[in-house]
Amino acid sequence: MAAFAARCATQPRLIRRATVCHCRDCQKFTGSAFAALVRVPKEAVTIQGTLKTFSSIGGSGNPILRHFCPECGSSIAEESGTRAGIIILNVGTFDDPTVAKPGREIFRDDAVPWIEVHGEIPRFAKRPG
Ligand SMILES: [Zn+2]
Repeated sequence: MAAFAARCATQPRLIRRATVCHCRDCQKFTGSAFAALVRVPKEAVTIQGTLKTFSSIGGSGNPILRHFCPECGSSIAEESGTRAGIIILNVGTFDDPTVAKPGREIFRDDAVPWIEVHGEIPRFAKRPG
């Protein structure tokens, strides 16, 4: 059982469009084959409970803060070292993760070969741009 609760008061459209990230850092942080992430304004998110944080280098090569629950080990959220004011929430922590649909795929070059994300969405070999 998680020892935290996060409330997000952002516009619903922001959490409907998830980024599927296949980068090695996201794979390691989630312990899974990819991460499903939504970016929201940090001020819209209220977190109850204490998260632990470590810093690593994301697939972009930039520093990223990785927040996780010290009680249950769940990976909760990330903050980019280059984008202040934005927090990235992990879709698997939502009460209803089905509200988020894939909006784009990034770091396809690192994807495990058996993952196929459906839909007509932008796909990037590395990071976009
Ligand atoms: Zn990633």
